Amino acid sequence: MPAPDLDTIVNLSKRRGFVFPASEIYGGLRSSWDYGHLGAELLRNLREAWWSAMVRERDDIVGIDSAIIQSRQVWVTSGHEANFSDPLVECTNCHHRFRLDKLDDPNTCPDCGERGTFTEPRPFNLMLKTYLGPIDDESAIAYLRPETAQGIFINYENVRRTARMKLPFGIAQIGKSFRNEITPGQFVFRTREFEQMEMEFFCRPEEAEQWHRFWLDARLQWYLDLGMDPERVRLRAHERSELAHYAAATSDVEYRFPWGWDELEGIANRTDFDLKAHSEASGVDLRFYDQDADERFYPYVIEPAAGVTRSAFAFLIDAYDEDELAGEKRVVLRLHPRLAPIKVAVLPLSKKDELVAVTEEVAATLRRRWMIEVDVTQSIGRRYRRQDEVGTPFCVTIDFDTLNDRAVTIRERDTATQVRVPIAELVEHLTVALG
Ligand code: ATP
Repeated sequence: MPAPDLDTIVNLSKRRGFVFPASEIYGGLRSSWDYGHLGAELLRNLREAWWSAMVRERDDIVGIDSAIIQSRQVWVTSGHEANFSDPLVECTNCHHRFRLDKLDDPNTCPDCGERGTFTEPRPFNLMLKTYLGPIDDESAIAYLRPETAQGIFINYENVRRTARMKLPFGIAQIGKSFRNEITPGQFVFRTREFEQMEMEFFCRPEEAEQWHRFWLDARLQWYLDLGMDPERVRLRAHERSELAHYAAATSDVEYRFPWGWDELEGIANRTDFDLKAHSEASGVDLRFYDQDADERFYPYVIEPAAGVTRSAFAFLIDAYDEDELAGEKRVVLRLHPRLAPIKVAVLPLSKKDELVAVTEEVAATLRRRWMIEVDVTQSIGRRYRRQDEVGTPFCVTIDFDTLNDRAVTIRERDTATQVRVPIAELVEHLTVALG
């Protein structure tokens, strides 16, 4: 069973150190969040799973890490300065502002309940503006990137040439993006500062549709491979009216959040919009030269664009479960071992010196491979529950028999089954079990 509501996950996240409200000691800032020890590990594991699937395991995709702040001209050329906006309405009764396309009822204010009090919608640009250097006038305007994709397009030729890539090929990037969202909310689902994992896959125009289908399937499969419930994740094609200014077709990977189906990732056919626009505006020819056919053309681009922070949230909801063990209720996060922040907990049965010495020895061995935690406080039952609640796949218990037989007990999270394994075989056993 996934988390029944938002509060369950918000409370668990805060209580156990996944996510804290940003600037909490000053009252909090609804539009950003800080990630604690476990949250930081979860994000790292997610990035790692994506990078591995998208870059390391493929020979047709390479990585990049571009700057957050680029020339303002990038956003003029890409169309973001003119078009990257959401429809804003204001209630003339309570003066609260809303994003029109996200309202359940476009005639009723969700805050004060008045009907027919909204102003005409006006486009509100989502880019966060800043000034570079000591003079804050028009000439110093710059933007914090609202997507990582443009950093890829403007480096297309640098990467293609230096990595010696031929069509079809992709460039992948993970990094922070910023959007001045009208209504941030639903915990980390929509924030003004967030992190994206984006890949631009360049191909021949006539092959774009086929690659689009390929990436739709591949990206859905990625969530399933990481353990997401197939009943709660799906693909949905955009209506024409929903398409972004650069897209010929888009489908979203959606997750069934506690409030309903919502976007996890957008997979768009961006055509040749960006490369063509940057070529024309910069004067640098970004067409691909096909030596065999002796022709130049603008590649089409298929873009799977996912959120790191948003999918971390979805995986937390999806992994949440409550069950009963030995007549006692427990909360367990059934996170895939690749995503689990702590892979192994090492738990000595007592704080006696002899057990602590073996614990340190075992911990030192495991630490070289995995993020582990040593926990010596409270009853063993309480310690198991604590690990279950944060999704630790395995607990290794060191007891008094260990001193004689040099063996430990491994307890598995989901079934609570236990096996006794010699310390000498522990790493091998866990390597297989963690997958
Ligand atoms: P929406 O319509 O919900 O505002 P979008 O369609 O504009 O989102 P994309 O531009 O497709 O979003 O962004 C790709 C991905 O980046 C999203 O699927 C999401 O995972 C993530 N993302 C976008 N905006 C935010 C945000 N404000 N907070 C957290 N993640 C975001």
